[in-house]
Amino acid sequence: MGIWNGLKRASRAIAESTGPAKYSSGGKQVRCEHCGRDQFTEGNAQLNTAGMTFMGLDWANQTATTLMCHACGRIHWFGIRPERH
Ligand SMILES: [Zn+2]
Repeated sequence: MGIWNGLKRASRAIAESTGPAKYSSGGKQVRCEHCGRDQFTEGNAQLNTAGMTFMGLDWANQTATTLMCHACGRIHWFGIRPERH
């Protein structure tokens, strides 16, 4: 019983932490540059490709945070992880 309830709690926490939310970056709320909405789904993308290294972007610790607009699917890239609200 204790294990089952713990699992249910854990899966609910995961769903809440990965669902669409509002974010801010650099002290400014992130808005979709395509449709202007403010709900995003967070993801991660690797930057350590040959092209990125060539472009001098390998300072970003080889990971970028992506925010995908919940309304239109536009993906925004951030080298610094935006703050989730
Ligand atoms: Zn959008």
